[in-house]
Amino acid sequence: MHPVDTLNRPLHDLRISVTDRCNFRCTYCMPKEVFGRNYQFLPQGDLLSFEEIERVARAFVGLGVRKLRLTGGEPLMRRELETLIAQLAAIPGAEDIALTTNGSFPLERIQSLKAAGLKRMTVSLDALDDPTFKSMNDVDFPVQAVLDWIEAGAAAGLGPVKVNMVVKRGVNEHSILPMARHFRERGHILRLIEFMDVGHSNGWRMDDVVTARQIFEIINAEMPLEPLEANYHGEVAERYRYADGQGEIGIISSVSQPFCGTCTRARISADGKLYTCLFAINGTDLRGLLRAGASEADLQAAVSAVWQKRADRYSELRSANTSDLPKVEMSYIGG
Ligand code: SAM
Repeated sequence: MHPVDTLNRPLHDLRISVTDRCNFRCTYCMPKEVFGRNYQFLPQGDLLSFEEIERVARAFVGLGVRKLRLTGGEPLMRRELETLIAQLAAIPGAEDIALTTNGSFPLERIQSLKAAGLKRMTVSLDALDDPTFKSMNDVDFPVQAVLDWIEAGAAAGLGPVKVNMVVKRGVNEHSILPMARHFRERGHILRLIEFMDVGHSNGWRMDDVVTARQIFEIINAEMPLEPLEANYHGEVAERYRYADGQGEIGIISSVSQPFCGTCTRARISADGKLYTCLFAINGTDLRGLLRAGASEADLQAAVSAVWQKRADRYSELRSANTSDLPKVEMSYIGG
């Protein structure tokens, strides 16, 4: 019943992109020159409805998935996301429902997300100073509003809040230490992410990557770090704790030290395609099956068939040539 792929990897996590739209234009993800006024986002009717997402999630939970993460685009751009969260929380076996957000919404939303059944939150923030953060989100959004969202999330019990920081050389390396100091004092887990060659529009170059090793050394020189065991098999971040016992960080090294060998994640795009790798080129259409009246068993058979054939390990095979392949955008497939 629980499928494993050709490299013996089980299916444990499902990331669901609920929209391909975002209110930010982060230069490394949805640059304005590409995602401008004329960009064709998915039409409403192409998106999976909440009922369709719930059916897909239920099928995955039956196949062994325990963790559901809502992402996008910006998931809070999808109206009444709380309704979907409540539907997902009611699925027996769906133990962990998490959200990745840019934290740019009114703080009242946090209570309604929690009440709907959200368990945990990851918030993206790339710098602590406004000039750097605004130059990266490219919509003039201030740091303080995101910091307030993070504190409100933790106070509401959606913690420990993880804070995702994408590090890009020459852009926000100088923010690594201020971010580490700030979040360690407040008990949130900073996760530093190597700039990845997802999608086809962020102009990725290896030279722009500050490697996990370099990130580690920058922090370790001021605040010594010790490695921690992974929380579970397949965890994306290498975990470290501060040697003085105050706090922990994660470093996500998908470029310099890929972790395909333990990848247990499937992804559903906002229009219902199943992808087995963040760097995939093609997905498998589940929306067609859903709209043709497929049963839960039919959906599970389709997902199992894809998973059992899965052999992808893009990051391990990455080279100068692969970064030019026509991969799908992160805002579409879900980060
Ligand atoms: N809008 C939500 C948010 O901001 O967290 C969810 C979607 S976003 C695509 C998910 C995560 O992917 C964010 O933390 C973002 O910084 C990260 N991300 C986007 N493009 C990336 C890239 N090229 N390399 C590394 N991380 C990236």
